[in-house]
Amino acid sequence: MNLPLITRAQEHNEKIAILVPRGCANATTQGVFTYRDLLYTSGQIATNLLENADDLHEERVAFLIPPGFEYVATQWGIWRAGGIAVPLCVSHPRPELEYVITNSGASIIVAHPDFEDTLQAIAKSHNLRFILTSQTLPSHIANLPEVDITRRALILYTSGTTGKPKGVVTTHENIQAQVTSLVTAWEWTSSDRILHVLPLHHIHGIVNILTCALWAGAECHILSKFDAEVVWNRICDGDLTLFMAVPTIYVKLIAAWENAKSQQQKSMSAGCEKMRLMVSGSAALPVQVLQKWQTISGHFLLERYGMTEIGMALSNPLHGDRLPGYVGKPLPQVEVRLVDENGLVPPGTPGEIQVKGPTVFLEYWQNPQATAKAFQDGWFCTGDQAVVENGNYRILGRMSVDIIKTGGYKVSALEIEEVLRTHPDIQECAVVGVADIEWGERVCAALVLQGSQTLTLESLRSWAKEQLAVYKVPTQILIVEELPRNAMGKVTKPAVVELFRSSLLSTPS
Ligand code: AMP
Repeated sequence: MNLPLITRAQEHNEKIAILVPRGCANATTQGVFTYRDLLYTSGQIATNLLENADDLHEERVAFLIPPGFEYVATQWGIWRAGGIAVPLCVSHPRPELEYVITNSGASIIVAHPDFEDTLQAIAKSHNLRFILTSQTLPSHIANLPEVDITRRALILYTSGTTGKPKGVVTTHENIQAQVTSLVTAWEWTSSDRILHVLPLHHIHGIVNILTCALWAGAECHILSKFDAEVVWNRICDGDLTLFMAVPTIYVKLIAAWENAKSQQQKSMSAGCEKMRLMVSGSAALPVQVLQKWQTISGHFLLERYGMTEIGMALSNPLHGDRLPGYVGKPLPQVEVRLVDENGLVPPGTPGEIQVKGPTVFLEYWQNPQATAKAFQDGWFCTGDQAVVENGNYRILGRMSVDIIKTGGYKVSALEIEEVLRTHPDIQECAVVGVADIEWGERVCAALVLQGSQTLTLESLRSWAKEQLAVYKVPTQILIVEELPRNAMGKVTKPAVVELFRSSLLSTPS
């Protein structure tokens, strides 16, 4: 049997699948692409990946391509050849790319020419097959393997409470369940047209937007990167039906709306009113942002809760009352329970969110211990706390202070600390998330320096950007004599957060 995502696409042959607007990408990637184009090009890519083999048999294929048609065709090509897609992040420096490539054990790297230098060097040093998207594709399409939906499809890297990011493995069946759950709940149809402005190495962009759109036979209009002005211009065109983003993006869109002239504001608001649904997720949506957006757009944002490991779990309703500060009820196919150290908690009592069902991932890549630790009696333990009030879930926060959510990205304080400790002038450090209306949380680092060394935020940032994704790099630092510690000598992170809150010495970025 062929993958249902692919067979469904055949029903929409002549319909537009992907549109990359002019002026949003370089000339080679913009354009309009039908489902037929997507099927044909992904077939060519699959043929190329296979060389003369009949099936990639879950070989990992890492790919680094800016959001657009080539990205999607490559992802589908990997799936159709029987491989596991490992999307890389366009803003990652070499060490992070190399970590994902080696940890996933990728045997093939596919790269857009913009990333040729870095990726070719990695491919060479690990003896991997290297393919550029600019290379000519085969003119015929080989017999492609039958890929069962129980096979592994995707590895997404996500930060946890321990050191380095872990590879979250989902099967085609998991992705299908994640997609059909949302398609049902939010009533996607082939008449939908969504603007895609999110990164394509994260579940939000890959599953909730791109794959839901393609499953439904809808149009996905992709911007290669977020730009508030470009987004508003597209909204003003008045032809979009759906928009989904993280709270930070809504904050930036609000700022751009506030800076616009009043005539322009009217057409921005009118464009929003033409849409049928606007969604926020991946981080807590501050109620002020929700309210401000409602006055601007007429939309009461639908807030949902999810995670790389489980897809989306909780959502406010498409029809019916949405409550500010709440994330609604379990989505179709998803079972949710709240548990504390004594077991299931009654309504009104906080507990850890645990999730079960076909949307839940298969395993952490080659990490059976971490996989086993993440489940309790078959339920996935999210590490997030919530409470049910009047039948609706309210997220209370994460159980670990070492997980920071910044701009919708989940980052590990421990991973950042490990890198900062390798700086020659840093003796000790503690990284914390400090609440911020625009970013959700900012990554802040308290530093104890070696001897009489000095260090500016600017020089630390430019050094750290060579090692870490830009969203993990601290935006505020505080130089301290010593870190606050408890009687056991352990750094007390809440006290570090307080230092930042009360500090006049911190340097805003
Ligand atoms: P990720 O796996 O990167 O999508 O991050 C998942 C984490 O984001 C969850 O475990 C939560 O901590 C957080 N998260 C996602 N959606 C929400 C939401 N609506 N409100 C609060 N936190 C959220």
